[in-house]
Amino acid sequence: MLVAIVGVNWGDEGKGRMVDLLSDEYDVVVRYQGGNNAGHTVVNEKGKFILNLLPSGILREKTINVMGQGMVIDVEHLFHEVEHLRQSGINISPQNLKISDQATICLPFNKLLDELEEDRLGANKFGSTRRGIAPVYSDKYMKKALRMGDLKDFVKLKSKLPSLVEWKNLLIEKGYGHAPIKVDELAKWLEQFGLYFLPYIIDTTAFLSSMIKENKSLMFEAQLGTLRDIDYGIYPFTSSSNTIASYAPIGSGIPFAHLDETLGIMKAYSTCVGAGPFVAEMFDQEGDNLREAGHEYGAATGRPRRVGGFDIVASRYGVLIQGATAIALTKLDVLSGLKRIPVVVAYEVDGKRIDFFPKGEELERAKPIYEYLPGFKEDISKARRLEDLPLAAISYIRYLEKAVACPIQYVSVGPSREEYIKLF
Ligand code: GDP
Repeated sequence: MLVAIVGVNWGDEGKGRMVDLLSDEYDVVVRYQGGNNAGHTVVNEKGKFILNLLPSGILREKTINVMGQGMVIDVEHLFHEVEHLRQSGINISPQNLKISDQATICLPFNKLLDELEEDRLGANKFGSTRRGIAPVYSDKYMKKALRMGDLKDFVKLKSKLPSLVEWKNLLIEKGYGHAPIKVDELAKWLEQFGLYFLPYIIDTTAFLSSMIKENKSLMFEAQLGTLRDIDYGIYPFTSSSNTIASYAPIGSGIPFAHLDETLGIMKAYSTCVGAGPFVAEMFDQEGDNLREAGHEYGAATGRPRRVGGFDIVASRYGVLIQGATAIALTKLDVLSGLKRIPVVVAYEVDGKRIDFFPKGEELERAKPIYEYLPGFKEDISKARRLEDLPLAAISYIRYLEKAVACPIQYVSVGPSREEYIKLF
């Protein structure tokens, strides 16, 4: 059984929480794209964990976790993430964590270049997370990046560094006027944080194909949502990788594999971090109430997130692009107390009503067409069956299913592991 769990919207849908819940049913959990530029928050009996790089299955005892070749890995960050979890009593070893030899290493100069460019842009800055993600994916396509497997022959790896550093300094020193980076420091960093992971590095194509042969169940875990996909999202306000489900086999090392199911994680309302077109955005008191109820502030920065009602146009597109076969609706509990539930039913562009998600300039000009559904005031966090929910909440669930043309299989009513309803 091969299942992908992906975000339908802009990210922060609560994927980490759903993967944590479901990972128990799978033998292997694989991350297939991105780096430490986003985080999953998982709350369970051991505590609250923010996972930037590690697959969410790491919190389960029997699950094998794989970091696929589509990922970019800052080994210093990974080192700290691993050590932090160990201090909380989580077991991490080469038995339950495997890293692709083809995964790209995100280097300190990638991070530095991310910062230098954001600072250069000043007021027009991009809103990058400054973690080096765009620069390192660029290096990958320039065919100059280092891969995890390079660490296996450290002497050879070190011999590649002078020309790499010379090339980068053309930009860092001569372009941005920053102090040049040094070969020795880079080598030391790789030795300190890279070599630590040597026992974890494997050929994930060989490993995962043998898992499939043995009929093991695999879950693929994405970071961010459809609208952040580099090719299908709101470019250029996207991530630098493919976040969508169809990339899961490629970014994991098994491009020949076919997904059996794709679970789309969809939030009961809209949030968007950073710049870019966000048609559903609400600027009034109703928006502020939603932000407060959902604690919608950036995990790392504390910045208020942009919020809006559920966006049918964007979500239907998200479900379509992901090829979702079922939906997990999250954060429904946040809506309790709202007199009416705001929903974007269509967009208006230049006086015309639009139902299909537009791109580029058209998206920039789009205005939301809002309608309102009856709200509910009961606290629903204790509901464990559909019947436990107020009628207005059930009607909302059924309404959304129809609107995005996909069955809702799970409804999440709180951040903790047991706070959910399974519909089928
Ligand atoms: P991810 O990147 O998609 O995993 O999302 P994040 O971890 O950034 O954001 C999800 C946030 O919402 C976390 O703080 C979760 O603990 C929380 N969360 C997830 N599901 C629910 C839910 O159903 N209700 C509530 N109230 N919070 C939730």
